[in-house]
Amino acid sequence: VIEIGQPEHSVVTTCAYCGVGCSFKAEMRGEEVVRMLPYKDGKANRGHSCVKGRFAWGYTNHRDRILNPMVRAKITDPWREVTWEEAFAHVASEFRRIQMKAGKGAIGGITSSRCTNEETFLVQKLVRAGFGNNNVDTCARVCHSPTGYGLKVAFGTSAGTQDFDSVEHSDVVLVIGANPTDGHPVFASRLKKRLRQGAKLIVIDPRRIDLVRTPHVEAAHHLALKPGTNVAVLDAIAHVIVTEGLFDESFVRERCDWSEFEHWASFVSEERNSPEAVEKVSGVPAAEIRAAARLYATGGNAAIYYGLGVTEHSQGSTTVMAIANLAMATGNLGRPGVGVNPLRGQNNVQGSCDMGSFPHELPGYRHVSDDATRDIFEKLWGVTLADEPGLRIPNMFDAALDGSFLGLYVQGEDIVQSDPDTHHVTSGLAAMECVVVHDLFLNETSDYAHVFLPGSTFLEKDGTFTNAERRINRVRKVMAPRNGPGGKNGLADWEVTQRLAQAMGLDWHYTHPSEIMAEIAATTPSFTGVTYEKLDELGSVQWPCNEKAPEGTPVMHIGGFARGLGKFMITEYVPTDEKTGPRFPLLLTTGRILSQYNVGAQTRRTANVIWHEEDLLEIHPHDAENRGVRDGDFVRVASRAGETTLRAKVTDRVAPGVVYTTFHHPLTQVNVITTDYSDWATNCPEYKVTAVQVAPSNGP
Ligand code: SF4
Repeated sequence: VIEIGQPEHSVVTTCAYCGVGCSFKAEMRGEEVVRMLPYKDGKANRGHSCVKGRFAWGYTNHRDRILNPMVRAKITDPWREVTWEEAFAHVASEFRRIQMKAGKGAIGGITSSRCTNEETFLVQKLVRAGFGNNNVDTCARVCHSPTGYGLKVAFGTSAGTQDFDSVEHSDVVLVIGANPTDGHPVFASRLKKRLRQGAKLIVIDPRRIDLVRTPHVEAAHHLALKPGTNVAVLDAIAHVIVTEGLFDESFVRERCDWSEFEHWASFVSEERNSPEAVEKVSGVPAAEIRAAARLYATGGNAAIYYGLGVTEHSQGSTTVMAIANLAMATGNLGRPGVGVNPLRGQNNVQGSCDMGSFPHELPGYRHVSDDATRDIFEKLWGVTLADEPGLRIPNMFDAALDGSFLGLYVQGEDIVQSDPDTHHVTSGLAAMECVVVHDLFLNETSDYAHVFLPGSTFLEKDGTFTNAERRINRVRKVMAPRNGPGGKNGLADWEVTQRLAQAMGLDWHYTHPSEIMAEIAATTPSFTGVTYEKLDELGSVQWPCNEKAPEGTPVMHIGGFARGLGKFMITEYVPTDEKTGPRFPLLLTTGRILSQYNVGAQTRRTANVIWHEEDLLEIHPHDAENRGVRDGDFVRVASRAGETTLRAKVTDRVAPGVVYTTFHHPLTQVNVITTDYSDWATNCPEYKVTAVQVAPSNGP
């Protein structure tokens, strides 16, 4: 029995985990959280939450938290605790030394989708105004960068089109490459409610996810495709829609470029894109593809929701554009109940992209080569900005290995565990001369760090997160930051970045994150009308929030696309280079489990840890029997890149030839076996397709 005491006051804030962005009431006793309750007026969650959010406060007080800044000369040396001043002075001096030696472009930064908009804005400002280059990238690189690219090409904005309320108006819902029950549980509950009311469901996923058949809900169609064939299946759906005349001609003529539509329609009509041809590639029966296409095109308001099973492929951006093509062709955009809706994995992955975390884009998705945009920031910041795109994360490691990139500031991201081709990451980090990790806990990346700056949790700071529906939610400080010696004199993450900037000679004097938001609003058109006062008054707003839409924009592209006419793109299916063969006969794909969040750094340090202590390998009974593997046995999983050991779970949730695991536990190191193939447009890694062999093992 745990004595939790009675709360004395409460503060409304936002969950720090997934992209649903649930509002919570943190009930407090002094500076201790007693419990967290879902907030009934939260517009994203409407009083609901999942198990992760309810326990999220637990890691704030965990004994593993690092409270003191630490420095060491070499990564083999023991850490030495220092004051904040010493730490900032050391980093500033090292970064300046590196730039003197190897040039302005020899250092860079990585932002975190777990940090606030304001903190992310400051990191990219530090890189651009302080380091003098565009070497800033975000962990969205490894998840939703194809969403940003693909939707911007098609519609003109890098974001989902709807709010979550929209699903209440859907007649047909197509879920592709997402498992909302585990990844976005509160949205999944809202979706299931709509399905129980009679909306029809199409699931496109290699695995029989929970939504395919749960109590009172059964998908009308489950297209259990071979991993890596999303584009082929989507083109086949388009083939049916075009060749059977199921497209919405008046919508396309009015809202899209008709000649591009005709070109695309001719492409998808080719025989190689027919369901019969695609059945041979994808394994999905042609009749199922035809039936799903007819339902999507003719079943009323049809919405598409998707996740990392769409983006983390060598054709991730192509898949996003193929989804956009379907929505435009059928007129399923610009009203409630329809749309293209990426389910974002992290709480602020939308925000980190909005805030200019990409090496080619300033805040608001404006290219660094755009003179007018640079002029806005140059006048305000009093600097000259670089007009060439900087390095993406994998290119930072390439440059480190050739000696031209030697210093890195990583905020809130365990890149060794979360990025592909672990050996490339670790060898790149090991080649650098000053790696600064700014995080809550020591992690696999800090093994390669020379400076550790302790971070603050979401309970210890003010700011905003932007969720998957573009909703800007307030994060409110409920306790003083504990990341200081003895748990005192802590600094919120935005203060850490500011102090580092000051040590590097920048004249920054923010006294509160609301001042950073004022700067964001002054420089970023979709945020022009955002203030903390408005967020307090309305609870939240969805961008664009500006003169045209002072209270925000729940549904985008009503009456016209942000880019003008919607753009149809030719989405040619190109098979991945990752092939199965006699040595690696199975295809591994990956996903999430309800109780854990990403690499588990936070959730493993909360009370729900007992729910999930290891990642399991799901394997079909036939494949298990062929290998002499029984349920619960350890198996060795090897790919061309590396190997790991997991416990087997024998299940027909996966098809023969496909295996599946989650990626939450550090011992699993699933990224040791994923390849270095990546999306052609954005370098987002191809996590969802790896050819592997599976054999019995005695254990790790
Ligand atoms: Fe809501 Fe996601 Fe947090 Fe769960 S993890 S409470 S669904 S924001």
